[in-house]
Amino acid sequence: MKIALVGIGKIAVDQHVPAIAASPDWELAATVSRKGSVEGVEAFTDFAAFLTARPDVPVVSLCMPPVPRYAYAEAALKAGRHVMLEKPPGATLAEVHALTALAAAKGLTLYATWHSRMAYAVAPAKAWLKGKRIVKAHITWREDVRRWHPGQDWVFEPGGMGVFDPGINALSILTEILPAAVHLTGAELTYPENCQTPIAADLTFSGNVTADFDWRQTGPQTWDIDVATDKGTLALRMGGNRLEIDGALMAGENSIMGEYPALYAAMAKLVAAGRSDVDLAPAVHVADAYALGRRVIVEAFHL
Ligand code: NAP
Repeated sequence: MKIALVGIGKIAVDQHVPAIAASPDWELAATVSRKGSVEGVEAFTDFAAFLTARPDVPVVSLCMPPVPRYAYAEAALKAGRHVMLEKPPGATLAEVHALTALAAAKGLTLYATWHSRMAYAVAPAKAWLKGKRIVKAHITWREDVRRWHPGQDWVFEPGGMGVFDPGINALSILTEILPAAVHLTGAELTYPENCQTPIAADLTFSGNVTADFDWRQTGPQTWDIDVATDKGTLALRMGGNRLEIDGALMAGENSIMGEYPALYAAMAKLVAAGRSDVDLAPAVHVADAYALGRRVIVEAFHL
């Protein structure tokens, strides 16, 4: 099936282009980006021009940051195209509800992707936790924003999510693997004095679940979820790619299928089945953190 990639930046180049190239399901038929392009693929700089010129491309994958993404998704659905959304699926919850309703009214597929849910050890972790009682759980998600978002000023602008941009990946795993839903009960959000979004967040949830997100960690990066249950302990490390049960390695780091190839395989199935997949649970926790969060102001930060 033909697909167009829209917003050719870091994640499109790092993950989407290779995943599509390796997929038996997809052919990259066009790109739409103001500056970016992919060699050998027809490139548009204007989305409306693409929609008019290429009615033969039934699917678009939107890879730009969340704030500008809504207008593209709405235009694509109105033009009868299936839509795949990078995470987070929107800058607000209401705009994603609007897209979900529009896709349903048009009979089109809308896929709000969560790439971290496709990490190798997430499904085995979910299976192991099934039926167990959670005693406590803690997320440690600490990375270096300058390494993963070089020069991307949008992450510190309103709607850019700040440390929740990576933190929502942890929340996407948490909401996938826990046997019962939890809800946020408190948050402390750390804002550099020159930024509109937080650079660190400490979250408390019901059920003795806590989270520590920080974007100031240089050196080794930490993407861990530790869960104590009535029948042993589970640790998901390396962003969901390594599973330890009671300290013993159960599932290793080598993925059979990478996270983005798995997303594109899932999109192919959704389109074929005429279904959508939009789970806003991780984004609800982020919205609740902003609703309940206590602000701490720290020194200015520059990318
Ligand atoms: P990025 O490189 O800053 O942006 C991607 C592209 O979007 C840009 O190159 C730009 O292309 C286009 N764009 C930016 N602002 C725009 C605007 N106002 N209107 C229209 N197009 C605009 O960001 P990214 O790192 O790829 O992240 C994009 C999304 O992927 C985010 O939601 C992020 O959470 C997610 N993601 C990122 C990573 C990562 O490692 N960075 C990992 C997983 C997921 P043109 O200038 O050519 O139009």
